[in-house]
Amino acid sequence: MTTVTQMKCACETCLCIVNPDAGAVEKNGQYFCSEACANGHVDSKGCGHSGCGC
Ligand SMILES: [Zn+2]
Ligand SMILES: [Zn+2]
Repeated sequence: MTTVTQMKCACETCLCIVNPDAGAVEKNGQYFCSEACANGHVDSKGCGHSGCGC
């Protein structure tokens, strides 16, 4: 049985897929693809991932 741990970044406009077990940024029980997303993009735009326009 395979455990699927991937989920979409909790950032509304982000299309990235994050893995809570590997590299995702956790904040308030939600998982984000980057610090920028986790912080609500207060001082940085986007997440640096290609194709993502958040
Ligand atoms: Zn992203
Ligand atoms: Zn974002």
